[in-house]
Amino acid sequence: MSTVNYDVVVLGGGAGGVAAAIRAAQLKGRVAIVEDKFLGGLCMNRGCVPFSHMLTASHILDSLNLAKEMGIECSQVSTDFSALMKRQDDLSTFMRQGVHGLLNKNGITLITGRGKLAGPGKIESKGEILSAKKIILATGGDWAKPSFPNSDLPEVINSDYLLTMKRLPQRCLLFGEGPRVIEIAQFLRLLGSKAWVSTPEAALLGNENKTIRSRLVKALQAQGIPILTGIEILSLRKKKENLEVSLKAKDKEEVIYVDVLMTLQRRAMLPGLGLETVGLDEKREFIEVNEHMQTSAVDVYAVGDLAAPAANHYSHLASAGGIVAAQNAMGLKTALDRRSTARVVFTRPQVACVGLTSKEAREAGYEVVEGAAPLSMNPLGMILNQNEGMIEVVAEKRYGEILGVHLIGEGVAEMVGIGILAINMEATLEELSRTTFPHPTLSESLAEAARDALGRAIYLP
Ligand SMILES: Cc1cc2nc3c(=O)[nH]c(=O)nc-3n(C[C@H](O)[C@H](O)[C@H](O)COP(=O)(O)OP(=O)(O)OC[C@H]3O[C@@H](n4cnc5c(N)ncnc54)[C@H](O)[C@@H]3O)c2cc1C
Repeated sequence: MSTVNYDVVVLGGGAGGVAAAIRAAQLKGRVAIVEDKFLGGLCMNRGCVPFSHMLTASHILDSLNLAKEMGIECSQVSTDFSALMKRQDDLSTFMRQGVHGLLNKNGITLITGRGKLAGPGKIESKGEILSAKKIILATGGDWAKPSFPNSDLPEVINSDYLLTMKRLPQRCLLFGEGPRVIEIAQFLRLLGSKAWVSTPEAALLGNENKTIRSRLVKALQAQGIPILTGIEILSLRKKKENLEVSLKAKDKEEVIYVDVLMTLQRRAMLPGLGLETVGLDEKREFIEVNEHMQTSAVDVYAVGDLAAPAANHYSHLASAGGIVAAQNAMGLKTALDRRSTARVVFTRPQVACVGLTSKEAREAGYEVVEGAAPLSMNPLGMILNQNEGMIEVVAEKRYGEILGVHLIGEGVAEMVGIGILAINMEATLEELSRTTFPHPTLSESLAEAARDALGRAIYLP
């Protein structure tokens, strides 16, 4: 076995690992990254990118309803699923090549193959030992086996299925928690399938502000997507033509017949990483890290889905963690501020929230003030039929510091960046209310929501 010495070795080339490797190299580290399959990881190859592409296509289709209201007739609209798949495969390939180029430009050694820890300061891959002053683990997660009976039937699928299928399932029950379940249900519905959202949670997106989640539910139901909450799957039975699913909600039982049942539960994948060789426990749900992304093992950092509960599986959090880990590994002292991680659902209308909900703020001991501005009263909102759109701002009363921004409406995933910046910069309601946003834009309602919290909304009745 030969040994190569590095300052930093990153295990896993997804959103977290690539950001970590590049940042460590920028800080003049000698860096290697070990990737088993595809650079860019889940996000670029089987997650954010292909699904954002699919959702965007379905939202374009949905826009034709508004177009019609505006007098634009689009007759004979058809969808070619193979063209959609080809375009997104091309995009993922192009982006992977881009990542490859970035690694080269930054002088990072790419090792293609599976790697694992082989003791303090050592990673083993393909029979070679890479010796590292610091190690950053970024190997992500994997699909969790559903806990209901008969979950190994071939009709029980996950989102990977949609990337290889030849035609859409006509009837699909989605079961689980979090944004992906809702996004994929809407995609299927907008492309003409019947889709149900079912969740074991008492409410959809139960941790978000009530106004936001109830408006999302209303919008989804209006699109013909039934929302079933507090659900337990009692049994699955393969019938000749379809799958019989028995569900229980409270004390009521219901049977639904579908082509497929999709679950999207993922968890950090710890077994096989050699964690025991550095004293870490592979039986945990995920690797625990502090705000510097340090694990309890000396000189070992962990980032991304590997180091987070499923509710925090976001690409932007993985890459932000990767940058923090790399900086600390290279001798800087930086911390990840999780307060400003946006929680986004890429449906139509989009949901984007950052910071504390009003309930969380009260529980944290703040005296809370809130302001809201419905997008149905915003000029562009009216043009775009934003009937369910809403902007909510949560702040503490004494200084007016903004603690949370909660949005539902067209394109609010872009707008939430203003909220992230406000929270990062400890901005106040007064400062947000004085910000002049361009007209006509939906973001004007951010200033109006801040004015509402201050008791001086201009355009609200
Ligand atoms: C359908 C779907 C849609 C999503 N959409 C979004 C979205 O819109 N926005 C968002 O923020 N997040 C989204 N996510 C979540 C996002 O994809 C993940 O949070 C993100 O990819 C996590 O990045 P990571 O670097 O931690 O792990 P990953 O991206 O999973 O990367 C880990 C990498 O490590 C490699 N690896 C694993 N084990 C080893 C080993 N032993 N040796 C070498 N290499 C190894 C893997 O091959 C992989 O490339 C989505 C997820 C899914 C499933």
